[in-house]
Amino acid sequence: RLRLERVSKRFGGHQAVDAVSLDLAGGEFFCLLGPSGCGKSTLLRLVAGFETPDSGAIRLGEADLTGLPPHRRPVNMMFQSYALFPHLSVAANLAYGLKGLGLSRAQIAERVTSLLALVRLDGFGSRRPDKLSGGQRQRVALARALAREPRLLLLDEPLGALDRALREETQGELRAIQKRLGTSFVVVTHDAHEAMALADRIGVMERGRLVQVGPARELYERPASRYVAGLLGDVN
Ligand code: ATP
Ligand code: MG
Repeated sequence: RLRLERVSKRFGGHQAVDAVSLDLAGGEFFCLLGPSGCGKSTLLRLVAGFETPDSGAIRLGEADLTGLPPHRRPVNMMFQSYALFPHLSVAANLAYGLKGLGLSRAQIAERVTSLLALVRLDGFGSRRPDKLSGGQRQRVALARALAREPRLLLLDEPLGALDRALREETQGELRAIQKRLGTSFVVVTHDAHEAMALADRIGVMERGRLVQVGPARELYERPASRYVAGLLGDVN
């Protein structure tokens, strides 16, 4: 269970994240929704440990993550540009995510096989990323992000590079994978349709603040402000 307690981050004179508090249940699919510049990526980077908060605390279960470096957190982050290594095969890209865990070659091969099965890319291990479709590449990136079995996976606009049809198909897949693993996901999006399709709960951000949190239906039916209504209003 992830817990943010009044987490704040300022860049120069700009309050990028402003006293955000949030409680995330284990196994929850959470979407952070808001327009460009509202602080979504900064909030993810704070949770992942790539930024240090000016104030506030970040806890996962009993552990206080606030001072820990990224690699010591049971958290992984998938960036918007999900850069795979182009010169490595799909299997080698996945194996890279397993480095440093002290696994034997056979154990790594086994994990790679099960990761490929998880994202329905069985048999694609020897391909190079440039011989895959955009959606397939996205699934490899997801598999790599899941390789170390993080307790929490943060995804920054994971479907941003896909066209609309593929996006909708991949939404269903992403949700199915999350439910199968029971890993908590926090997905950033500025697309209200996407948030509604994916999330158990949505958190709406406005200029660094988390202004409303709830299931899609609740936000749609009982928006706390015009701003929230405007974001969700053209969706049904
Ligand atoms: P987008 O949807 O465009 O990705 P976002 O909601 O992810 O936007 P952030 O990247 O979190 O927004 O940025 C929030 C604000 O903080 C923006 O005004 C941005 O210019 C500023 N900002 C982010 N990172 C830095 C930084 N390293 N230095 C200075 N300002 C920053
Ligand atoms: Mg961003």
